Amino acid sequence: MTLFASTRNTSLAVGFSVALMQGLAPDGGLFVPAVPPRLTPQDFDGAQTLAAIAGRLLAPFVGTDPLTATLPGLTAEAFNSPAPLQPLDEHGRLFVLELFHGPTAAFKDFGARFLAACFEGLHTPRARVITILVATSGDTGAAVASAFHGRPGIEVAVLFPKGLVSPTQEQQLTCWGGNVHSLSVRGTFDDCQRMVKDAFADTELKRRMVMSSANSINLARLLPQMAYFAAASLEVWRQHGEPASFIVPSGNLGNALACLWARAAGLPIAQIVLAHNANRTVPDYLQSGEWRPRPSIATLASAMDVGDPSNAERLRALYPHLDELRSAVSAYSVSDEEISARIRADYQSRGQIWCPHTATAAEVYARLPATLQAAQRWVIVSTAHPAKFPEIVEPLIGRAVSVPQSLAGLFARAASCVEIEADLGALRAAL
Ligand SMILES: *Cc1c(COP(=O)(O)O)cnc(C)c1O
Repeated sequence: MTLFASTRNTSLAVGFSVALMQGLAPDGGLFVPAVPPRLTPQDFDGAQTLAAIAGRLLAPFVGTDPLTATLPGLTAEAFNSPAPLQPLDEHGRLFVLELFHGPTAAFKDFGARFLAACFEGLHTPRARVITILVATSGDTGAAVASAFHGRPGIEVAVLFPKGLVSPTQEQQLTCWGGNVHSLSVRGTFDDCQRMVKDAFADTELKRRMVMSSANSINLARLLPQMAYFAAASLEVWRQHGEPASFIVPSGNLGNALACLWARAAGLPIAQIVLAHNANRTVPDYLQSGEWRPRPSIATLASAMDVGDPSNAERLRALYPHLDELRSAVSAYSVSDEEISARIRADYQSRGQIWCPHTATAAEVYARLPATLQAAQRWVIVSTAHPAKFPEIVEPLIGRAVSVPQSLAGLFARAASCVEIEADLGALRAAL
């Protein structure tokens, strides 16, 4: 069975459900698979659906954990919306992986739903209420709120930076009510993330309540994200007998890490390229070798506005040496002007409408040398539906984006939230 060790102390290893409940390792590190399982494409023979592939992939990670018996139910619940791989050319050399068919139309629905199903699976009728704290730069909060809304024994507090999410995103963060509490923080996403970290370390709060996290620091969100990279790479493998290469829009590096872990677990994945917005901490690190986190900058791809990605600690745990890391992954930064130009250009040339995050990946693909484009089978990862960002996308393409049914339902709900200062005291008072 796979154990999960802290990035800061490999001898601190626990099973899956302990890691899931703790969120953060006791020494402040992040949980990572101590020894990742090793699978081959043949291990997935006969697994056709996303849920079936997720089940095969996650079983060795979950091991003999108490949650093992319920794993088929958990994957069925988390992966009940599709993640189709759409061809963008006739030769099977370029695809888009659409991760936006879930309830809040972004990839985070998959991880959030898996996490919520795990929490519910671990909750016993006599157990204390669990409070889930989540800091969001946009889409995380919506996906987590949707996934946990109405689940018994669970309260959710969603912290988002006031004025730094789009009106459409804010609606999706504040339309829930019931067991979901929306907190509009006078600060940045990094402030929100720090407040959540501080809350977990706070003795008063620890006495008052059982807290857990739903950020991408939580393993139970991260691990299931491997499933759609697995399914897409297997589809390319089964069709063409070659591995797939992914371009992943990245912010806090959760999706990037899931893709790297999937490859480390033996899935047929060749190159992994990270597309960042103007928050260039990771591209700069790969170039200079110096880790220099900085305050986040607001961009059009706001769900990727992360200047100090917490999952970098996991990235460095996976590849402790810079030269290993450099050969494992590459990363590029895309400016707002380039995002806008890419949305316009790909709409005009292909009729394809990208969300601003997906546009960073499309732009990075366009920048690849033609020889490299031709040498691999590329998958642009589409992290959100463009209808989540009408304020940005519609003026660029000169038409309305049609809204999927799931989102239209969220837009129709009444919104409410509480505004707080960006400090632990304010969060304590609000909880
Ligand atoms: C969260 C998010 C990202 C960034 O993903 P990370 O896992 O934080 O790197 C990209 N695009 C969208 C739409 C997102 O919501």
